[in-house]
Amino acid sequence: MLARYACDPARSQGRRIAEPLSPPRTEYQRDRDRIVHSTAFRRLVYKTQVFVNHEGDLFRTRLTHSLEVAQLGRSIARALALNEDLVEAIALAHDLGHTPFGHAGQDALHECMQGHGGFEHNLQSLRVVDKLEQRYPRFDGLNLCLETREGILKRCSLPVAAALEAAEPGGVARRFKAQQQPSLEAQLVNLVDEVAYNAHDIDDGVRSGLLDMAQLDAMALFARHRNAALAEHPHLHALPRRLLAETLRRMLSAQVHDVIEATQAQLARHAPADADADAVRALPPLVCFGPAMREQSTQLKRFLFGALYRHPQVMATTQRARDVVQALFAAYIDAPGEMPAEQAASVAQRGRRVVADYIAGMTDRFAAREYHRLTGLPAFTPA
Ligand code: MG
Repeated sequence: MLARYACDPARSQGRRIAEPLSPPRTEYQRDRDRIVHSTAFRRLVYKTQVFVNHEGDLFRTRLTHSLEVAQLGRSIARALALNEDLVEAIALAHDLGHTPFGHAGQDALHECMQGHGGFEHNLQSLRVVDKLEQRYPRFDGLNLCLETREGILKRCSLPVAAALEAAEPGGVARRFKAQQQPSLEAQLVNLVDEVAYNAHDIDDGVRSGLLDMAQLDAMALFARHRNAALAEHPHLHALPRRLLAETLRRMLSAQVHDVIEATQAQLARHAPADADADAVRALPPLVCFGPAMREQSTQLKRFLFGALYRHPQVMATTQRARDVVQALFAAYIDAPGEMPAEQAASVAQRGRRVVADYIAGMTDRFAAREYHRLTGLPAFTPA
């Protein structure tokens, strides 16, 4: 049973190219299936979240991150009677446009594309599902429903929105011009993305030895749940891995409950009696943390930024990753024949964007192998 303000596949704004329905699946279930079977989705398994793939087998990758976002999103969607299938589809696709080596790869490609439209991962995720996947006889991309595509395009600058709107009037970029919110399902995925990475980056940060307990104990949210876990299970003093897992589990569950309660309160406050999926777009963002949890989550985010993402060891790898991506870009521009025939043939017509798309699609280890093939040098010194 869906809430009145949930997205209903029967009232979807539909696909850019009309297709017959595919019962018994709903249209959002079908989008999820298309995403799961895409090439870009399989590549997420070898793409960096924070740690580059060769640094260890147990760290999160984009794939496990996306699965965690889908799990958290579906739990909350069920509680709020939002459309779980749409949440799952958006969550599984939200990072499809990420380059190899995480944000370092994106920054490097953005520099390489200066004066040529730049590079931005949210827009690239949309390009993947709209254009770059080639699996269907009659169209490029996956031809997803507008609601799924809108959730994937989480952010967009106004000039880019204007260009998208010109190409597709009333389409995926309309809300940026109209200064409206996306669906509640899209708002939810956006928020649980943060919930997921805050928790798993702590886990990976501790596992890697780059974060320690004393630092984490200064975080209100972490300290509260660690103390509660120890009070209930004193033997966890001697079992640090289990203590960390139990702390993170409690933190996740507290955040899930907080989002459910705070969002219910927002819905009660803002949503008129006849609210539907379109009416919520004109309202302020409704899927949210309560004020106290908002503050604690922001504190964690800031902490992770300084202590983990800017840790000298992580920075050394990301600086190296930038150099690798820029060297690859220069090598393919110099000699397009080093790319597969299809890309090599379209460089003359479509220019640097072909190279950016090709590199953005690479996994960490494929990019590292290509670097080695083209330069004779190792991309990274083995850990
Ligand atoms: Mg994400």
